[in-house]
Amino acid sequence: MCGITGYIGYKNADKVLFDCLKRLEYRGYDSCGIALVQSDGIKVIKDTCRVKELEAKHKKVNSKIGIGHTRWATCGEPTAANAHPHSSCGDKVAVVHNGTLDQFIPLKEDLINKGHVFKSETDTEIIPHLIEENMKTMSADDAVKKALGTIQGAFAVAAIVQNENKLYVGKVGCPLVIGVGDSECYVASDSSALSKYTNRFIYLKDHDTAVLTPDSIKLFRNGKETEPEIELLDKNLNDAELHGYPHFMLKEIHEEPRVITTTIDDLDDLATLLATIDKDLGGIRMIKTLACGSSYYASLMMRYLAPQILGIPTFAELGSEYCSLTKGQKGTLAIAISQSGETADTIKAAKAAKANGYKLMAITNVKNSQLARAADYVWTTKAGPEVSVAATKTVLSQIAALYSLILAHPSLSKLNKEDAMDTFRKLPDQINKIFENVDSIISVASYLADFKDAIYIARGLNYPIALEGALKLKEISYIHGEGYAAGELKHGPFALLGKEVPVIAIVSHDENYDSLVTNLREVKTRQAPLIAISEENDLTISNLADYVITVPHTKPILSPILNLVVVQLLAYYTAVKKGNPVDFPRNLAKTVTVE
Ligand code: GLU
Repeated sequence: MCGITGYIGYKNADKVLFDCLKRLEYRGYDSCGIALVQSDGIKVIKDTCRVKELEAKHKKVNSKIGIGHTRWATCGEPTAANAHPHSSCGDKVAVVHNGTLDQFIPLKEDLINKGHVFKSETDTEIIPHLIEENMKTMSADDAVKKALGTIQGAFAVAAIVQNENKLYVGKVGCPLVIGVGDSECYVASDSSALSKYTNRFIYLKDHDTAVLTPDSIKLFRNGKETEPEIELLDKNLNDAELHGYPHFMLKEIHEEPRVITTTIDDLDDLATLLATIDKDLGGIRMIKTLACGSSYYASLMMRYLAPQILGIPTFAELGSEYCSLTKGQKGTLAIAISQSGETADTIKAAKAAKANGYKLMAITNVKNSQLARAADYVWTTKAGPEVSVAATKTVLSQIAALYSLILAHPSLSKLNKEDAMDTFRKLPDQINKIFENVDSIISVASYLADFKDAIYIARGLNYPIALEGALKLKEISYIHGEGYAAGELKHGPFALLGKEVPVIAIVSHDENYDSLVTNLREVKTRQAPLIAISEENDLTISNLADYVITVPHTKPILSPILNLVVVQLLAYYTAVKKGNPVDFPRNLAKTVTVE
């Protein structure tokens, strides 16, 4: 789970590489490094530090070709020796790699027997040695191609070779994009890292390799030279700048009203897609969602919405736990949800479901992702690039997409649809109201920051939001948060309640309200501090709770969307209060490409 980049052209490569690496740090940040082709050989600098620290240590070098890496270690501890780039003996070849290689030990032993000396514990290091070994009998172009055909597992690789004014790339199972400039080429794990430089991209497919020079791109698909397809990307949808916000997370939360508006604008297209699915399946009779992490909590919404509104039985499965024992029957649809579309566990589950006869729909924020390519039907959420490791606007975009699926379903009456759309359209303004009243969230966050544990509770449709709120708190504030269905408290977690464990209750004004109020009284009886997220003017709640964060009134069915924004902001300001690195929390990476 790393970020890789590369440059060949007329600019100083070190500057471009450091700049791109800073935009790729969301993929991993336990170490980083760059390698540059110079007249007297390849220069590698790397360390266990953040990109800006490495950049500060680096003395400018006149080189127009280079590769860079920001690491989230999967094979070998995060040390300077294990940091990428890795190079062959005498630094003749240097390589950066995202992914994990299978069965690399026999290859490594073979290379050691041939006299190669290894400096790291990584799987990656076999690649430069293999290339160098191949170069004894063939050209550098062929040596790289052969090495990438020899290694097994998942990889996106960029390589440079001494005395070759070329940049080599290839991939299987990990994302890699070539950015096309004028007399220059860029390479990165995602296009938004290159948004400042170009809007013309070539998305590599699995088993593609390419040889880049400033003026040419030779693409090989299944070994055959192929004309590359250049896609133009909308600059707005590829924007990954801070624009004055202190953190990407806050900026991305503030983009949520726009995400709702975009979802509404796309509703007709979704209805067309849904009509096709419905026709292909002869009517959707059962839904199985597959997802991990925050996307899984988003998917849980469907478990409530589809049976309640459409009468379609729906089962939410964790991608990492999915065991494909049941065959898909006629009319069963699997919906796999992943922000990056590269989540290994979700892709594995989605492929297993497909192999078992399910029709597969992907909901993802990345159009050309692996998940998108594996699916029969794709819905792209258009939240724009999300840099902060803790997902916010993309979770909201997934939930909004699932609501839209319900709204677009042909069985919903015109009247119900129009009524729901009216409420839906008010959400962007209501989210903006939450932003205007953020002071109450900030003061609760200051209070929460002093605790070690917190319990989030809710009932019904807001239960997934309680789970997501607790996850967000864990991820960035490092406070131990757990989400519970409020009715479950008495089945065990009550043992934890007391003055040291605040309870954050998400109150929805629906058929669950009375039982939730009963649960809140039980919480207060155990002297736990009570924070309620509730609509304005609810006297019962304000009398019971120690703190109330109010949200604008909406139909109960849409309340999870507003409550989601509140729990995200609460986690954000708690992490800020604790002085944590909000956008890059410890031990995490955004795109989880390992099982
Ligand atoms: N396996 C390589 C390493 O640990 C790359 C990490 C990754 O992208 O998962 O260095």
